[in-house]
Amino acid sequence: PAQSHATSVTVARGDGIGPEIMDASLAMLQAAGAALAIEEIEVGEKVYKAGFTSGLTDDAWASIRRTKLLYKAPITTPYGGGYKSLNVTIRTGLGLFANVRPVRAYAPYIRTHHPAMDLVIVRENEEDLYTGIEHRQTDEVVQCLKLLSRPGSERVIRYAFDFARLSGRKKVTCMVKDNIMKLTDGMFHQVFREIAAEYPEIATDHMIVDIGAAKMAVNPERFDVVVTPNLYGDIISDIAAEVAGSVGLAGSANIGQHGAMFEAVHGSAPDITGKGIANPSGLFLAGVEMLQFAGQGEAAARAYNAWAATIEAGIHTGDMSGPETKQKVGTKDFTAAVIARMGEGP
Ligand code: NAD
Repeated sequence: PAQSHATSVTVARGDGIGPEIMDASLAMLQAAGAALAIEEIEVGEKVYKAGFTSGLTDDAWASIRRTKLLYKAPITTPYGGGYKSLNVTIRTGLGLFANVRPVRAYAPYIRTHHPAMDLVIVRENEEDLYTGIEHRQTDEVVQCLKLLSRPGSERVIRYAFDFARLSGRKKVTCMVKDNIMKLTDGMFHQVFREIAAEYPEIATDHMIVDIGAAKMAVNPERFDVVVTPNLYGDIISDIAAEVAGSVGLAGSANIGQHGAMFEAVHGSAPDITGKGIANPSGLFLAGVEMLQFAGQGEAAARAYNAWAATIEAGIHTGDMSGPETKQKVGTKDFTAAVIARMGEGP
């Protein structure tokens, strides 16, 4: 049953496989009872080529500012100079300070050495070495500035603890390199200690990022929520996704002061565009996160359970297929199989 108050959301169908997987994802979410008032915008290649260097028209931007919620399919980034990354434009515009990436194993249906892995990486998204402050000092010496602020650190660390509390998770691990970068990473760790004291029911842990990344590769089961600055988070999330064996299934949430954006982790896959074989799961699972974020927890649970039941029944798209696959299907049949399982219960 659809909720009486629909969530206003701006939807961007993107490039390449984007429109195929967006149609599939919306169909699955709506079949689960998601109440969405959709405003569609165009972003990406065509918009860039029409002369909008940020990949976004003024009208599109006005919609995002109005709904404060963007559900975005991947876009193709055009080659050549003069283009601004759409993600950077959106990140800055909405103040997206936290990138939240859940990573879990779907064993035995998706092959992994770590079936019990189930963690969430909360990565700071605006600061650190990613502010783009670079200088050429001489012909042979260049410099990149690492910038961390106390308010920026507080915001993302508090978000990680609130997230842990709300989702019933037990532990938050802080990953930094404060043995070397005593001021910057030292402050992040200090803020972590201060905020942790406000959440006595949640266990805490601190790891130097080099050994933390190594543990992520060999013993990811030990992690629950991980909070970390931008660069480390970027690297650790890819390690985690790869170890889980499910890069194609990963969705990410970008949470901000002025709005939020939900998307798949993968790109526009031009090599398989139009073949009807794209896996919609990454974008769909990001959509499930979006429903939870929007307070539509019931629809989110119904959607997720139907998806999981489909995976467990061995109905897989080509990129997922393995020993447990019983039926290898394309995008449309996969979507229909998920929709057929709505309301079956967990
Ligand atoms: P990609 O993720 O698009 O594709 C990598 C490989 O994975 C390809 O073989 C592709 O067929 C496969 N793949 C990806 N998603 C799949 C899915 N849902 N189902 C089945 N197979 C899937 O990476 P790429 O080829 O390096 O990049 C293509 C374009 O996407 C580039 O223009 C890049 O800039 C862009 N990109 C956009 C985003 C985004 O919008 N958030 C993210 C990453 C890359």
